[in-house]
Amino acid sequence: MTGRLIHQLAELTDICAGTLLDVRKTDGWSWSLSSNGLFSVKDLTKLIEQQGVSITAVTEETHRNRLVPKKLEVFVWRAIKRRIPVRCELDKRGIDLHSSRCPLCDDDLETVDHSLIFCKHSMDVWNRVYNWCGLGNFSNLSISEILRGNSTTIMSCLGKKIWQTIEWVVVYYIWKNRNNKVFRDKSWTAPIALSEIQLKSFEWISHRIHGRKLDWLTWLNSPCSYFSL
Ligand SMILES: [Zn+2]
Repeated sequence: MTGRLIHQLAELTDICAGTLLDVRKTDGWSWSLSSNGLFSVKDLTKLIEQQGVSITAVTEETHRNRLVPKKLEVFVWRAIKRRIPVRCELDKRGIDLHSSRCPLCDDDLETVDHSLIFCKHSMDVWNRVYNWCGLGNFSNLSISEILRGNSTTIMSCLGKKIWQTIEWVVVYYIWKNRNNKVFRDKSWTAPIALSEIQLKSFEWISHRIHGRKLDWLTWLNSPCSYFSL
């Protein structure tokens, strides 16, 4: 099963949690999520669309960051809600896996916090990013604190969003690389991850920041100079 399919299966399991689906003796299936109690693909499609809208609405309300694409806002919202398909979350939803341990380090259970922060491979990336940004040592915050941008005392309003963008790109790449390892057996290293994070955060911010211009060499050598914009 591919990462995308597992992701969609976890989403569908979320939606259907607590829902009873029974075979009717006469002419169809019954479930508890429509007013007439009769299951239909049309109702299911509508429900999934409504879920998509509600995810976007919550994201815009609480974690809006205009410097990143919408798909990243949605990913961050899902990470905060512990709704990305790490092994422990799949196990909770009744998906049978041979192991719930971290597929990268095998040192602990693969929870969202372990995968995105506390796994030794992720910590290596976080430390390199903190070092790049001149922020000292990475302090072990929770995933919620990190993704809400609470991890430093910097900065101007725009500077805070720039730093938050970097943090969000970090978790995005940690997750992407985790899936590449699990599903494609592609190995990655923290230095390569840092390079990808530097480039992608520069591209996304440069593309969306209006009235300002980022300089690539300054970004590489002293990104913190943009935290006071
Ligand atoms: Zn691990």
